[in-house]
Amino acid sequence: MIENNQAPLIRVKELKKDFGENKVLRGVNIDINKGDVVAVIGPSGCGKSTFLRCLNLLEEPTSGEIVFNNNVIFRDHKTATKNKIKQVKKQMREAKHKGENVEEYKEKLIMLNDVLEAENWEFLRTLRLVDNDEMEKPQGDVNAIFKKYQAETKVKIKETKKQIRIAESKGEDITPYKEQIEKLKSDYVLQKSEERGIARASKKNINKHRQKIGMVFQQFNLFPHMTILKNITLAPTKLKKMPKAQAKALALDLLDKVGLKDRANDYPSALSGGQKQRVAIVRSLAMEPDVILFDEPTSALDPEMVGEVLNVMTELAKSGMTMVVVTHEMGFAREVANRVIFIDEGVIKEENNPKDFFEYPQNPRLVDFLSKVL
Ligand code: ADP
Ligand code: MG
Repeated sequence: MIENNQAPLIRVKELKKDFGENKVLRGVNIDINKGDVVAVIGPSGCGKSTFLRCLNLLEEPTSGEIVFNNNVIFRDHKTATKNKIKQVKKQMREAKHKGENVEEYKEKLIMLNDVLEAENWEFLRTLRLVDNDEMEKPQGDVNAIFKKYQAETKVKIKETKKQIRIAESKGEDITPYKEQIEKLKSDYVLQKSEERGIARASKKNINKHRQKIGMVFQQFNLFPHMTILKNITLAPTKLKKMPKAQAKALALDLLDKVGLKDRANDYPSALSGGQKQRVAIVRSLAMEPDVILFDEPTSALDPEMVGEVLNVMTELAKSGMTMVVVTHEMGFAREVANRVIFIDEGVIKEENNPKDFFEYPQNPRLVDFLSKVL
């Protein structure tokens, strides 16, 4: 059961991602809490980048569930459980045909239907359609419940629109109502999509979701035709509608923290790789994200510049920022992260605190991997 105040910042359940025949992620499970610094390591091509890209929906997962700050970003539990039910029904038919005992299958079906119901129920909770402390199961079948919630949400939207008109005619502030409507609309989209078995956030909500997730790439991805300052203020002013002066002050303050205040008016081409990457970090910080995902942030750097970027990341970690860092820098993983995970063959093969992870690796494939990189 999810308690709002204790829920992880990011909950990933049975995340799968196929590219055609290539099953890259085969069921990744992890809860990332606020303030966690998770180092992600694993062999090239094992799906580390794909994992990060799924978290902010740059890739749409094939199945599984991603919940961010209690908001369902993607969810497709039913396919998995329903497929199992189908499979067992088929086995049962075959067994019957052969005149075998089918009791075992009947029991399995009962269990799987319970699982399906529990998942639906959990989903209603995640959507906050039922109170967390409301322990009684709702009456009736789940689809009927979704239908009922949809109808109620529609009515609420109508009522809120009415309130807006009244508030407007009185010259009152309508912002809270507008926010309320957006929330209701996103609930409605989720309720509707859940009927089809997959719940995904609406486009608008995906964009909002992405604003809360910073991303720092190996190749910096700064806009070459814009100054450093413009690179940093672009998203806050355009997406968050931050006043220009405020965005500029924020940008200069952040640049100062990474020792680059005097480069604000330069273009990226005038900067070294290490400086560009520090700017890229500042750019994501300027959006005041809840978490920053780093995809091999130091891999493209000359060795003498790795340190300055890692230093900035270390400071960031100390400040309490939640970070997920795909890295080959084992020193960083060991010293700065509080959790290290090893992705291999599409799953998290091992997770531990850094000390035990590196000193007492359990999985043979991790032992082998570490022997090559350490
Ligand atoms: P890593 O970051 O661990 O090196 P990736 O996540 O980049 O691995 O890639 C994992 C696998 O997924 C690779 O086999 C890669 O070829 C494949 N892959 C990644 N992105 C795509 C894509 N957009 N289309 C098809 N295949 C992809
Ligand atoms: Mg990668």
